[in-house]
Amino acid sequence: MSVSLFVGSAEEEEFRADVIRFISEYRGLNGFHFQGSKWPEVKALYRAIGQCGWMSIGWSDAAGGLGRSAVREFILWDEMAYARVARPPLGAGIVAKTLIAHGTEAQKQKWLPPIRAGEKFFSLGYSEPGAGSDLAGLSTRADLHGDHYVVTGEKCWTSYAQDSDYLWTLVRTGAVEDRGRGLSLMILDLHAPGVSVRPLPTIDGEQLNQVVLDAVEVPVEHRIGPENAAWRLVKDALDVERHVQFPPARLRRDLEELVAWLRKHEHELDPVVQRTVAALGVGVFEVEALALLVLESVVKGRPGDVEAAQNKLAHAELSQKIARAPFELGLSEALIYGPIEFLYRQSTWETIGGGTSEIMRSVVARQGLGLGGRS
Ligand SMILES: Cc1cc2nc3c(=O)[nH]c(=O)nc-3n(C[C@H](O)[C@H](O)[C@H](O)COP(=O)(O)OP(=O)(O)OC[C@H]3O[C@@H](n4cnc5c(N)ncnc54)[C@H](O)[C@@H]3O)c2cc1C
Repeated sequence: MSVSLFVGSAEEEEFRADVIRFISEYRGLNGFHFQGSKWPEVKALYRAIGQCGWMSIGWSDAAGGLGRSAVREFILWDEMAYARVARPPLGAGIVAKTLIAHGTEAQKQKWLPPIRAGEKFFSLGYSEPGAGSDLAGLSTRADLHGDHYVVTGEKCWTSYAQDSDYLWTLVRTGAVEDRGRGLSLMILDLHAPGVSVRPLPTIDGEQLNQVVLDAVEVPVEHRIGPENAAWRLVKDALDVERHVQFPPARLRRDLEELVAWLRKHEHELDPVVQRTVAALGVGVFEVEALALLVLESVVKGRPGDVEAAQNKLAHAELSQKIARAPFELGLSEALIYGPIEFLYRQSTWETIGGGTSEIMRSVVARQGLGLGGRS
């Protein structure tokens, strides 16, 4: 990777070199952008990552991991993003780390080994047609009948559900008026009777999914944590994972792509182009600095909600600025050049997925600046 703000210790940089060597076999895969269309290859890659022990690099020894710091996870997934090889699978992060912290021994034994090996995959079933930003208003219902819940409702915008084994899902077990205090977290088998997964095509040529749950039976031992107490777990799950969700090297790579096109078409000496590229370059450094603040909060075990919101906001907005720069510069012919045309379409969802820019601004305003009361 070209110059970046982050330089780790000698051991960490050695690890980076190992990762780059590993990735060299997968260059050209682009599972970062095309996980759905390249699922067999991406799955094979995840299995190879599992064989290196890197899928569980940050898990404790007791949980079967390598017990390394969050810095190594950051390096691993930042390099994967730069090479556009893959994104971190949800199972090894959000799911496994929540299970390690809050799961029963039986749950850990059931799910951690196949996640660690890169053999079982999870999707995140939070959003619904009537609940995205306002997640506490979700209505998919789970009612207890003896030793199992019966789950009925609809999840939407579910990434990777077409290829996943399980849905890590948030459901209502309490009263609607209880909002977040009436929600529970469950692992639902996506191949169970009553589950239908339907594609929702996205502008980048990939797909999200609608997941319809029609009286799906979920064993009570697949509920994670106490009933009606999911809100804290969901927040904790984000806290342990936010340093790998928005890898800044992805933006460095996008900018390099743009600069290569500008050079090829002899625009690089134009002062307006130079000023724009310089501003975007500063933006990449800014996002790296914000990502490092997030990493620091994870390493030190500090709450990092505001840093995470700032980072997500800056990352998403910059991805669009880079992709749209040719258009702003009047060089719209770049938009018929495959890679930039693709980034133009793909980056449109960056300001929505993972929480919208408006919601991120709201977190910064309320929790960071103390404006308008606490959220
Ligand atoms: C590519 C992609 C992948 C996704 N993957 C997943 C997934 O795997 N699992 C999953 O559960 N979800 C997933 N989502 C859903 C995503 O989390 C939601 O789309 C997002 O949280 C916004 O919710 P919404 O779509 O319901 O929009 P809404 O919440 O209805 O928002 C609509 C508009 O209103 C604005 N708005 C809403 N509330 C406020 C407020 N309080 N203040 C100011 N403005 C507000 C929003 O910013 C937005 O502009 C994904 C979405 C995308 C685009």
